Amino acid sequence: MSNVTVCVRFRPLSLKEKKVHGDSVCITCLDRESFIFKDEKEEDLPFCFDRVFYQDSAQADVYEFLALPIVQDTVKAINGTIITYGQTGAGKTYSMEGLGILDCDENKKGLLPRVVDGLFQCINSSPEDIKYAVKLSMVEIYMEKVRDLFDLSKDNVQIKENKSQGIILSGASEMPILNTEEALKCLSRGISNRAVGETQMNVSSSRSHCVYVFSVQRESAIDKRVKTGKLILVDLAGSEKVEKTGAEGKVLEEAKNINKSLSSLGNVINALTNGRGNHIPYRDSKLTRILQDALGGNSRTALLCCCSPSSSNASESLSTLRFGTRTK
Ligand code: ADP
Ligand code: MG
Repeated sequence: MSNVTVCVRFRPLSLKEKKVHGDSVCITCLDRESFIFKDEKEEDLPFCFDRVFYQDSAQADVYEFLALPIVQDTVKAINGTIITYGQTGAGKTYSMEGLGILDCDENKKGLLPRVVDGLFQCINSSPEDIKYAVKLSMVEIYMEKVRDLFDLSKDNVQIKENKSQGIILSGASEMPILNTEEALKCLSRGISNRAVGETQMNVSSSRSHCVYVFSVQRESAIDKRVKTGKLILVDLAGSEKVEKTGAEGKVLEEAKNINKSLSSLGNVINALTNGRGNHIPYRDSKLTRILQDALGGNSRTALLCCCSPSSSNASESLSTLRFGTRTK
């Protein structure tokens, strides 16, 4: 019944995990939906999700299971959201972007290039009496401020709502996109701008959320009706806990903001899946506010919880799995 799909992806052990901690993996695969997780106290905890992608999973399988149905709906003017969650180094960006956007090995391509391809495939195979216009915006949320990644001078984009368009990023650049190639160039530009902004402000990309908004407008030649489907992808800030005792100043402020937005995201998805009353706390953070009309209603949501399989990261992985479970 739920429009929310929750998946888990374990990346392969890193060289460092192998070297420093031996080859110890804290999960035992049961099947493609469930596994046993050994926590820090060596206790066995069973987990079950809509789909589990293990260490050897292919990028294409992740796309087909969690993104393709949402892409197909976007073209039919149904909104959707795809989110990667997890501690820094768990594989969020690898899943979202792959190893680079341009000139990427086919099997290393992440969700973004595949989503773009999928959108244009659907558009090109749809009836000729429907005209499409695709636009892309990219913003970053850092310390509850929204910055335009196509124009770094717009560093305080306001989120507004209007009757005809729903939630909008007021004044943010919208890049018109005619084909896959143009889309990839734009994405790549936004991603390099993000790195420039981070160097300027001396912050790490793991401390901000990156939000990609594809808006797909369709106009029927027969009745002239215009409808828009919005597909939002979010590469979240790292979910790791910051040492309470050591952190101070900027680090502590960053951690508080990330904590707040991740927990409000959890609360919103939880309120949607559990259908508790009508109040959905979208306004608790910029992140949930941007996602407001692409989460809930008849829109589809996919959450990919990214984890390290290493026992040395068991505590962070467990908290990621709990986040995923809580949204079910
Ligand atoms: P995050 O964005 O969550 O901080 P990354 O996506 O940057 O993490 O991943 C950390 C490292 O692990 C990168 O070097 C990345 O290429 C590698 N990695 C992550 N997931 C996979 C995977 N499924 N297969 C192979 N390498 C991966
Ligand atoms: Mg990342």
